[in-house]
Amino acid sequence: MRVAFVASEAFPFAKVGGLADVIGSLPQALQKQGLEPTIFLPWYWGIQGYYVGEAWFSFEGRREQMGIGHAEHNGVRYVLVGLGDFARDKPYGYPDDFRRFVRFALATAHLLGDFDIVHAHDWQAALLPLLRNLGWFKARTIYTIHNLAYQGVWGSQDFYAWTGLPGETYYGAGLEHHGSVNLMKAGIVNADAVTTVSPRYAWEITTPEGGEGLDGVLRAHQWKLRGILNGLDTHYWNPATDPYLQHHYDASDLSGKAQNRALLLAELALEDRPTLGVVSRFAQQKGIDLIADAVDGLMGLGINLVVLGSGDPNLERTFAWMAAHLKGRLAYVQGYNEALAHRIYAGSDGFLMPSRFEPCGLAQLIAMRYGTPPIVRAVGGLLDTVKHWETGFMFDALDAGGILHGVREFLKHPDRESVARKAMQQDFSWDKPAREYLALYRQLLGMA
Ligand code: ADP
Repeated sequence: MRVAFVASEAFPFAKVGGLADVIGSLPQALQKQGLEPTIFLPWYWGIQGYYVGEAWFSFEGRREQMGIGHAEHNGVRYVLVGLGDFARDKPYGYPDDFRRFVRFALATAHLLGDFDIVHAHDWQAALLPLLRNLGWFKARTIYTIHNLAYQGVWGSQDFYAWTGLPGETYYGAGLEHHGSVNLMKAGIVNADAVTTVSPRYAWEITTPEGGEGLDGVLRAHQWKLRGILNGLDTHYWNPATDPYLQHHYDASDLSGKAQNRALLLAELALEDRPTLGVVSRFAQQKGIDLIADAVDGLMGLGINLVVLGSGDPNLERTFAWMAAHLKGRLAYVQGYNEALAHRIYAGSDGFLMPSRFEPCGLAQLIAMRYGTPPIVRAVGGLLDTVKHWETGFMFDALDAGGILHGVREFLKHPDRESVARKAMQQDFSWDKPAREYLALYRQLLGMA
């Protein structure tokens, strides 16, 4: 069975969030199940690959060339799709993102002739199931929603001018949504199977509250929708071997964790108080604004906060300001910092994640793996992965009061170390989810 993944991020080549962790680790787990998936990724600036040739595709009515590169990581084969507008220093955040990824999908479709399964991820690859239905390639298609909030929406005039696709696909193949082209919708409508990254989120997105305007579409296709919980790369995220940590530890002996904690507090000049970590994109989804609202209350509870992240500039300014005024008690580091993220996961006493919605969430899994009980809002994948009072703490209310309630529960627990140990002992590996994906591939190929 020949399986292709098509995605916009893969750790360590390009990472913005959890999508990169998934694409960087699930294929290795599938290899253990006997598959050899190939990952198709845009050839971003800075990715070291071997140039192996070029291929042609059509865009804006012209024949265009793409460069093709090969790369390998942990024994997994990557095909790098070289298009001029990906030679930029970050994957997204440009006004022409929609156009760039439509080009990526059209170009990649020409390279998929040899595959039995094409597994497309998020809106950037969502056009592929439709192209398959138009006969561009033959594989069975799976579309995985990692985050329904980003749908790939654009005006239809540009879309058809760029792609040259037949106009009847607008209504007939599910591209149209509220008067625009919506790639996420087309992925859902056209794929043979649709998955998302936790069972709870698979249900939430079929409701008006969680559906981001696509709940009706998802309900109509619920028969082919299911949730498969994400795993973690448990070799990479391992406090017993993590090269970013000075002191290693496991569930049988947490003394190394205490040493990492002391180093983290010293590094960030924090007083010795219960310390909660936050490692996150600063996006509306993550409820970082609610943490800002809760800071007074948290200080009142005698808590330190260590916050690493960037995104919304207003929130960045707010946290920089609070850190300046709460020296010794609140540390804020702006930006993306892999090494510091590891030190925070290992050195904090608890991990705060008050998401408004959460498809799966990896940060809370990493925190548990590092013996740092997460304090999370009871939503989406957080609800599927954290056990209240056993491996972490949960709260419901989407406001500062909710966060403070969760933190009080955390402080109240008589034996936080047992919670940490139990969290560390959970199975977060990809073994089970990889078997579920394999079973789905086999089912689609009539091999079940
Ligand atoms: P999302 O994909 O919505 O951003 P997840 O919890 O699924 O959220 O995955 C987030 C991933 O990105 C985790 O691996 C987390 O450690 C990492 N991450 C987020 N922000 C930063 C940052 N500022 N520096 C380093 N790693 C980060």
